[in-house]
Amino acid sequence: MIRKIIELQKIDIEIDEINSEINSSPERIEQINNDIETIKQDIAERERAFKELAVKQREFENDMLKLEEEIKKAQSELYTVKTNEAYKTLLKTIDDKKAQVSEVEDSILEIMEKVEQVKKELDEAKNSRDRQIQMLKSRIDEIQVRKTQIEKLLEEKKSARASVVAELESDQKTNSFLKKYEKIRQSKGGLAVVEVTENDSCGGCNISLTKQKINEVLSSDMTLCDNCGRILYKKQEDF
Ligand SMILES: [Zn+2]
Repeated sequence: MIRKIIELQKIDIEIDEINSEINSSPERIEQINNDIETIKQDIAERERAFKELAVKQREFENDMLKLEEEIKKAQSELYTVKTNEAYKTLLKTIDDKKAQVSEVEDSILEIMEKVEQVKKELDEAKNSRDRQIQMLKSRIDEIQVRKTQIEKLLEEKKSARASVVAELESDQKTNSFLKKYEKIRQSKGGLAVVEVTENDSCGGCNISLTKQKINEVLSSDMTLCDNCGRILYKKQEDF
């Protein structure tokens, strides 16, 4: 009789595992979708940074064109000024603007390097993003296929359980055994039947069992652990 209960517990544990996998599927899929979103956001972020830099580079280039125009204009004015004072002022203006051009040139070189670097990283990220997203999407497919499979398996386990239960319910004694099992299973959150370990302890709570208790386990149909209340069994030669 204990063997039927052990069989039932095995099925119940499998059912619990299947249920927990089914129940966790939506959460796992959501997590993967979040990961995909994060990757997409990272790319969008890089694209934004790249565009910003490109705009800045154009601004610097415009600044330089403007300065060069101004220098040209000032240089042409050199021939028309009347006073020595005005001539000197104009020369100073030209020098200042040339210094500014040189600064802007440095800035442009700097930003061009940055643009190149950011573009390179963006291209690499885009490349690996496609692969990553493809991989994550196929993981979602796998979870969904697996969910369908284990839902079918769950139905099989449930019908296997029903037939073991029907068998146990058919006899008054085994039926009360079944009820006891259900009750302990509920209170213990799963494991209701435990094996006596090699050194004669309870396989559930690990407390040492007396010789008398072991004899009881071996001779009676149902013996409970005095400490945790689980049903004890001991493997014998015909097990
Ligand atoms: Zn125990």
